[in-house]
Amino acid sequence: MNIEEVQSTAKKQRIATHTHIRGLGLEPSGRAIDMAAGFVGQKEAREAAGLVVDMIKQKKMAGRALLLAGPPGTGKTALALGVSQELGTKVPFCPMVGSEVYSSEVKKTEVLMENFRRAIGLRIKENKEVTELSPEETESLTGGYGKSIGGVIIGLKTIKGTKQLRLEASIYDALIKEKVAVGDVIYIEANSGAVKRVGRSDAFATEFDLEAEEYVPLPKGEVSKKKEIVQDVTLHDLDAANARPQGGQDILSLMGQMMKPRKTEITDKLRQEINKVVNGFIDKGTAELVPGVLFIDEVHMLDMECFSYLNRALESSLSPIVIFATNRGICNVRGTDMNSPHGIPVDLLDRLVIIRTQTYGPAEMIQILAIRAQVEELHIDEESLAELGEIGQRTSLRHAVQLLSPASIVAKLNGREEICKVMIVSTCGSRGSLYIVSGCQVIGQAAPGS
Ligand code: ATP
Repeated sequence: MNIEEVQSTAKKQRIATHTHIRGLGLEPSGRAIDMAAGFVGQKEAREAAGLVVDMIKQKKMAGRALLLAGPPGTGKTALALGVSQELGTKVPFCPMVGSEVYSSEVKKTEVLMENFRRAIGLRIKENKEVTELSPEETESLTGGYGKSIGGVIIGLKTIKGTKQLRLEASIYDALIKEKVAVGDVIYIEANSGAVKRVGRSDAFATEFDLEAEEYVPLPKGEVSKKKEIVQDVTLHDLDAANARPQGGQDILSLMGQMMKPRKTEITDKLRQEINKVVNGFIDKGTAELVPGVLFIDEVHMLDMECFSYLNRALESSLSPIVIFATNRGICNVRGTDMNSPHGIPVDLLDRLVIIRTQTYGPAEMIQILAIRAQVEELHIDEESLAELGEIGQRTSLRHAVQLLSPASIVAKLNGREEICKVMIVSTCGSRGSLYIVSGCQVIGQAAPGS
């Protein structure tokens, strides 16, 4: 079996501008702290979101969803991310935009279903005695040279990348030639580079403190001990990995399929099969469901078909926490001639807890911009921050945040470490624009949002 690098399915770019958000920044009493966990202001919404987190923890959000309503750039995405972080560090956060469902190739409900499953995590626990390596084998491994290694194959990515061992390409090739598979216990003789398979392990790693996807030297003469190994995946990872099912139905085979980046269609039948296997593991106590957060921005872009699907999906026992966001008030429900608050049909609206977000004052905007500049390791003087704060007031915070990077590039082009006001000149259009100034010369103009 060929082992290939695991392809990440995380939608990283969309949350890149929120890396400073680490939670909701609330006191234990639920009060919002002025500036905490990367959050500034928006205190009422944060406190309300804290109440929702409590409801989720008490399992009182089943069948319901949260709607964040407010003008652009008022921190709706940041709040949704904050909620997911309050629920736990390994809780999946899956952001999507309403318009994503309109693909020419995939059905709308299919797109929703896929994102639902991206937002449901599965924590797989293995707690087993690993005894594949006998003391003699261990002894012979380390004997003489002392630097041979052993362990359970988890992924080949590691073998290439691992720093401690700096494995030669020849060893990597040998592993492939030996047809080592995920779960095989192997050792590699450091002096000859010979690769040997010495057995199989039902656990994902050995007792030797193997981080996922990492090999460590095998301590001389030590035998295995019991250890709990935890692996976090999403249901979508398992769907995608098993889209072309092969091998057994045990958890190792399910995980093994994740190493294959090939994509084929994920059918309903496949999802049902995965659910069956997963439910089996949950019943046995080997795995635990970790409902994450599905964030659907611009929910007014969805149509009746999507809304009726969502109504049903929210009832399902395998449902993540769904957070919608919109900046629309009363508007048309797509695909109908009805108007409704936020463009959401009333039957779904009845299920929602709604939190409003407010626009920021200049001081709050400047603080948020300063945090972003710090996170992006950009240097900016007070005057420029104030200028950006003003642009943000006239346009939106998001726009002002996005001006930071181009301004810093202009600063660098001008041989400066720090962004200064001359680099941030706004026009008096309905939105501010950034003129990129090189010395006194305008060399380009960035449109808002670009
Ligand atoms: P849109 O309507 O465009 O989707 P939004 O309401 O989701 O916007 P965000 O994208 O969350 O707004 O906010 C814009 C930027 O400002 C992001 O980088 C976000 O992390 C940051 N931000 C917003 N509000 C806060 C806050 N209260 N504290 C810290 N950072 C914030």
